[in-house]
Amino acid sequence: MLTRLAAIPVREVRKVGDKRAEALATIDIVTVLDLITHYPRRYIDRTRQADVAGMRMGEESLVLARVDSVRSRRTRNGRALVELEVDDGTGALRVTFFNQAWRARQLPVGTEALFFGKLDSYRGKRQFTNPVVDLVGNRTGRIVPIYPTSEKTGIAGWEFGEWVEEALHRAGALYDPLPARWRDELELMDRTSAFGAIHAPESFAQQERARRRLAFDELLRLQLEVVMRRHVLERDSRGIRHSVVPAVGSPDLVDAFVGQLPFPLTAAQRRAVAEIGADLAKALPMHRLLQGDVGSGKTVVALCALLVAVQGGHQGALMAPTEVLAEQHFLGVRELLSDLVVPDPERLGGSRPLAVALLTNRTPAAERARLHEGLRAGSVDLVVGTHALLTDEVRFSSLGVVVIDEQHRFGVEQRNTLRAKGRDAADGEGADPDLLVMTATPIPRTAAMVFFGDLDVTELDELPAGRSPVRTEWARTPEDEQAAWSRVRDEVAAGHRAYVVCPLVEGSERVQATSATGERARLESTVLAGLRIGLLHGQLKAADKEGIMQRFRDGEIQVLVATTVIEVGVDVPEATVMVVQDADRFGIAQLHQLRGRVGRSDRVSWCYLFAEATSPEAAMRLEALERTNDGFELAEVDLELRGEGTILGTRQKGRSDLKLASLRRGDRPLVEAARRVAESLLAEDPSLDEAPHLADEVRLFVGEAEAAFLLKS
Ligand code: ADP
Ligand code: MG
Repeated sequence: MLTRLAAIPVREVRKVGDKRAEALATIDIVTVLDLITHYPRRYIDRTRQADVAGMRMGEESLVLARVDSVRSRRTRNGRALVELEVDDGTGALRVTFFNQAWRARQLPVGTEALFFGKLDSYRGKRQFTNPVVDLVGNRTGRIVPIYPTSEKTGIAGWEFGEWVEEALHRAGALYDPLPARWRDELELMDRTSAFGAIHAPESFAQQERARRRLAFDELLRLQLEVVMRRHVLERDSRGIRHSVVPAVGSPDLVDAFVGQLPFPLTAAQRRAVAEIGADLAKALPMHRLLQGDVGSGKTVVALCALLVAVQGGHQGALMAPTEVLAEQHFLGVRELLSDLVVPDPERLGGSRPLAVALLTNRTPAAERARLHEGLRAGSVDLVVGTHALLTDEVRFSSLGVVVIDEQHRFGVEQRNTLRAKGRDAADGEGADPDLLVMTATPIPRTAAMVFFGDLDVTELDELPAGRSPVRTEWARTPEDEQAAWSRVRDEVAAGHRAYVVCPLVEGSERVQATSATGERARLESTVLAGLRIGLLHGQLKAADKEGIMQRFRDGEIQVLVATTVIEVGVDVPEATVMVVQDADRFGIAQLHQLRGRVGRSDRVSWCYLFAEATSPEAAMRLEALERTNDGFELAEVDLELRGEGTILGTRQKGRSDLKLASLRRGDRPLVEAARRVAESLLAEDPSLDEAPHLADEVRLFVGEAEAAFLLKS
C-alpha cells in the first residue's frame, strides 16, 4: 500500500545512512513513498553510446569519458563557469557548465562518467555545454535513468537506483486499487510492475507503459477527489430553482433584452444561454465555467443569466478583477439594459426601471452606504463591482446568480466569499446562488477537467459575424517597425485608434510606469510626432485611468501608450492597430489577450509584435500568433511548448501529485478515462467505503496538494 510506504522513513532503506537521508531531505525525500515517486527525469540509451572521435556537430550523443582536468571560474557577468577536459581514448572533448559550480566537486579529475549532450564548438574546440551527466558506478542496464536534482545533493544516479530497487523489493507486491476489469479495458500495467519499470525499464516501450499506468493513478486520484467534492457540495446545497420561463403576466427579461440588442446572438451564444438556463432551472446550484475567446461575447451570455435571477425577484452580481474593467462593464451593462423594467411590489401592478449599480473602492462613502442599503432592501437588481463586493457590509436581499469575470484573477476563497452572500441573505432566508465563472484564456477541455474539475464547462467557440480577424505581423527588423508606425499614423488619420503596449520591465509597478512614461515621450518626439498620445499605467489613480479611457473612447486621445493594464477586457471598438514592444517577453496567452483589444468591429485590424532576435521558443510563440487568431488553438500550442506547469500561472502549483501525467496531447484520453473510472467507482460506492485503501490514497496525495493549492490561490 502506498499509504504505508508514506509512513516509513527513507532512512530505513538499506544503504541510506544518516548523511544520505539528510541530503535526501533537502530535496523533499523523507519517506519511502517520496523515494519511489521521485521519478527519473529522462533516460539514456546506452546502446547509442558514441566515441568522442566519431561524434558529429549538432547531433546529440552519449559518451563515456574520464575527466582529465577541471577548471572553475566566473564569467565577466558573474556567472559560475566550470570547464572540464574529458577523454574516452578516441579523442578529447571540452565540457562546459554554466551556473553549476558544484560540478567541480561532482566530477574531480579521474572520474568516469556518462555525458549526454549536443556537440557544439567554441573557438574551434569541440564541446558539450551543460550536458546531462551520470556517474557510472557499477550499473549495467541498457537504459540509464537520470534523476532530477540528485546531483546537486551529491547523490549519484546509480545510488538512487539501488535504493529504489531495495525499497521496491522490500515493499513486495503493492496493493493495486484499480479493479482488474478497468486495468484490462484501459490496457494498463499493474502497479507493482509499473513502479519497477519506471525506475529500471528494460525497454523504452516498457518505460512508457509504466509511465502511462502511474500517470493514470495520479489523474484518477484527482478525479476521485473532484467528483466526491462535487457530491458533497450537491448534498449540502440549498439552491434556487430559477424560473427561466417567467410566470404568466411577468415580463420575460431575457427575451426583452436579447430582442433589443443591436445584433443577433451567435449560435454559440444561444447554445450557452440554453445550457445555463437548464442549470438555473434545477434545484442544484449551477457551477459552470464559460470559456470563450476574446471578443466572443461572454458578457451578453452572462447578462442573460443575471436577468433570469432578476426576473424571478432575485438579484445578480458581476465581479471583475479591476476597476477599469468593472467600470467598463457597468457602463456597457447599463446601456444594454436601459430599456428594461421590472415589477415594482411597492406599486400594485406597477413597474420600475431595472436598477444597476457599480461598487468599487472608488465609490464615495455616501453613495456606497446608499448602495449597501439598496442591495439589502432588494431595490438594486444588479450590481457590478470589484473586490469591493466582498466586504462584510455587502449583503443582499436575495442573491440569485453570481458571475465572475476573468476568474483566474481571483482565488477560490474570493469566489466562495461572494457566493456565501446568498446564504447569508439580509432576510435570513438565504440560498446558494448559481455561479458562472468566465475566462478569456481558454484551455483545452481536458485541462479544464484537471484544473477546474469541479466546474461544468460551456464553450463559446464562435465569434460574432462580421469580425475580420486581426492581421498579426512579427516585426523583426527596423524596416518592419517603420511599416508598423506608418500603419499607426494611417489608421489614426482615418479616425481610428491605436494602442502601444510598453516593454515589460523588471521591477515594481512604479518602474514599469516610469518606463511607460519614457516610451510615450520618445514616441511623441519621434515616430508618432503630432499625434495625440495618452498614457495608461497601474500607478495612475483610478479616476485618472477612467478619464483617460473615456478620452480614448471619444477619440480625444488617438494613441494609447499602455502597460499590460489594458490586457483585461478593455473594449474600444474604434481601436484598429496595436504595437507590442518586446513581444518575445510575453507569453502566448498574454499576447493573445492584448491582441484582443483590437479587431473588435468589422474594420480590419493589425497587430505588430516587435521583437528582434529571439530564443527559438519565443520564435515559436510569435509564429503561432502570426498564424492563428484562435484562442483554443493557441492554448494547445502553449500547452505543447510549456507544459501545464505554467499555463495557468500559479494556480496549479499545488497540484503536486501530477508528476508524470502531462496534459500535452498524449495524456488527454487518459484524463477522460480517469474521469470515467472515478464516476463509475463512485456511482457504486459514493464514499469509497468498499475501497478504503484507495480512499486513503486520495486523501494522502490529493489532500496535501489541494491544501497547498487552496492556501496559495
Ligand atoms: P468577451 O467575450 O471578450 O468578454 P465581450 O462580451 O466584451 O467579449 O464582447 C465583445 C464585443 O462584441 C462587445 O462590444 C459586444 O457588444 C459585442 N458582441 C457580443 N455579442 C455579439 C454578437 N452576437 N454580435 C455582434 N456583436 C456582439
Ligand atoms: Mg470580457
